[in-house]
Amino acid sequence: MEKTLVLIKPDAFGKNHAGDILKIYENAGFKIIAVKVMKMTPELAAKHYVEHIGRPYYPALVEFMTSAPIMAVVLTGDDVIKKVRELNGATNPAEAAEGTVRKLYAADKTKNAVHASDSEASAAREIPIFFSACEIFD
Ligand code: ADP
Ligand code: MG
Repeated sequence: MEKTLVLIKPDAFGKNHAGDILKIYENAGFKIIAVKVMKMTPELAAKHYVEHIGRPYYPALVEFMTSAPIMAVVLTGDDVIKKVRELNGATNPAEAAEGTVRKLYAADKTKNAVHASDSEASAAREIPIFFSACEIFD
């Protein structure tokens, strides 16, 4: 079964929206098969966001992602990668559709509540950054 990595970012986690966000995924039929609360280090951020190193927003992104705890989650289900990206909404919350996680809980392009893998290759690369095989119940 397809898997995706979700990160509930410091803004949404700090405002106690983890449960609200997980409920959106569960209501859509997806299963939580791994979860942990952790603080990202700059090294972990560099690994996860490797494609973004050097972009103008990268320093602010790392500062934000390492500022407070996050929740890392693995979800599974049919077409979960694409559907969770749809449930999350556009990267810029100002452009996110009504009812999406980012429309509901995000403030701006950096503090945008959630991350989700964007392809099977990304999910396969990202999940092991946060979870060992024995922490995933699939
Ligand atoms: P997504 O999270 O929707 O897959 P990207 O992979 O393009 O978006 O970017 C990763 C993260 O980097 C975004 O979620 C956001 O936190 C940050 N980011 C991307 N583009 C910008 C930008 N133009 N300004 C500020 N932050 C940005
Ligand atoms: Mg992305």
